[in-house]
Amino acid sequence: MKPIAFNYERATSIEDAVNLLSEQNVFAKIIAGSQSLGPMLNLRIAQPELLIDITSIRELTDVASTQDHLDLGACITHADIEDGRVPDPSKGLLPHVAGTIAYRAVRNRGTIGGSLAHGDPAADWVSIFPLLDAELVVSSRRGKRTIPAADLLVSSFTTVLAQDELIETVRVPKLSDRARWGVYKINQKAGEFAHAIAGVLHDPERGHFRAVIGAIETAPIVVADAAMLFSGPHGPDLAERVDEKVVERMLDERAVRDAYTRQLALTALKRAARQACGS
Ligand SMILES: Cc1cc2nc3c(=O)[nH]c(=O)nc-3n(C[C@H](O)[C@H](O)[C@H](O)COP(=O)(O)OP(=O)(O)OC[C@H]3O[C@@H](n4cnc5c(N)ncnc54)[C@H](O)[C@@H]3O)c2cc1C
Repeated sequence: MKPIAFNYERATSIEDAVNLLSEQNVFAKIIAGSQSLGPMLNLRIAQPELLIDITSIRELTDVASTQDHLDLGACITHADIEDGRVPDPSKGLLPHVAGTIAYRAVRNRGTIGGSLAHGDPAADWVSIFPLLDAELVVSSRRGKRTIPAADLLVSSFTTVLAQDELIETVRVPKLSDRARWGVYKINQKAGEFAHAIAGVLHDPERGHFRAVIGAIETAPIVVADAAMLFSGPHGPDLAERVDEKVVERMLDERAVRDAYTRQLALTALKRAARQACGS
C-alpha cells in the first residue's frame, strides 16, 4: 500500500515547526528518521494531512553540556550515540544500548526523539532514559515544559505529549566515575525489539540506585529506589538477592499476566543486576 496524499513542509527552526504543528484544523505530524512513521504511513495506520520534517533544524542535533547534565537534541540518531559522535554522559551505557537497536540502516536514521514520541513499550530508549533519570524538554506554541522520562509513557503507544508538542532535547544526568550499570535486553535475534529489557544503575556519588523493567506491553516499571527490589544492601551478590515477591507485585500492578512475559522480566532484571555488580 501507499500513503494517502499529504502536504509536506521542511521546518527551518523549532519555532517554525511548533507553529506549523499548531495550525488550526490540520492533522499534522512531525517526521524525523521516518523509521516508524514511514511504515505507518504506507500501511495507512497514520493518515496525517501535513508532515513536518524536522531533520534540517540544526538545534535538534546539538549537544549542550553543564556540570550536571548533557542536553541531547531530539534528532540525534541511534548511530550518532553508538559511534561516539556525541559525548557520553553515561559511562558507556547509552552507546551500548544504541548498538543493540535494530540494525545499522535503522540506527543511521532513527532518532532518540522519534523513538520516545512513538511510545513503543518494546523500544529501548523508553526504558533506558527513565533508568538514567533523564528529562525531556518539550516545546509548543504555549512555551516549554520539562517531563521526566519516567512519566512519558501512559501505556502502549500512548504518551503524555500533546498533539502540538515537539520533543526538543533529552536532558541526561552525568554519571560519576564510581557509577556502575547493567542493562539486559532479551530478544531472539540481534536487531529485534526487546521481549524484555531491564536495567540497574548504582551511582553512590549522585545517590542513585535505580532500576527499570521494560518491554512489558505497557509503560516500563521505573524504580527510583532500587533497594526495595533486593533484600539487603547493595553488594556483589545483588542478582541472587532479587526479592521476587516485590517484582511479582509490581508486574501485577501493571496487569502483566502472561507467565512467559513475567519470567522474562525477572530474568532480565537478575542479569542486569549481575552486570551492574560486575559479577
Ligand atoms: C526493522 C526495525 C527494527 C527496529 N528495532 C528497534 C529496536 O530494536 N529497538 C528500538 O528501540 N527501536 C527499534 N526500531 C524503531 C527505531 O528505533 C525508530 O527509529 C524509532 O522508533 C523512531 O524514530 P524515528 O526518528 O524514525 O521517528 P519517526 O518514524 O520519524 O517518527 C515516529 C513518531 O514520533 C513522532 N516524532 C518524531 N520526532 C519527534 C519529536 N522530536 N517530537 C515529537 N514527536 C516526534 C512522529 O510524529 C511519529 O509519531 C526499529 C525500527 C525498524 C524499522
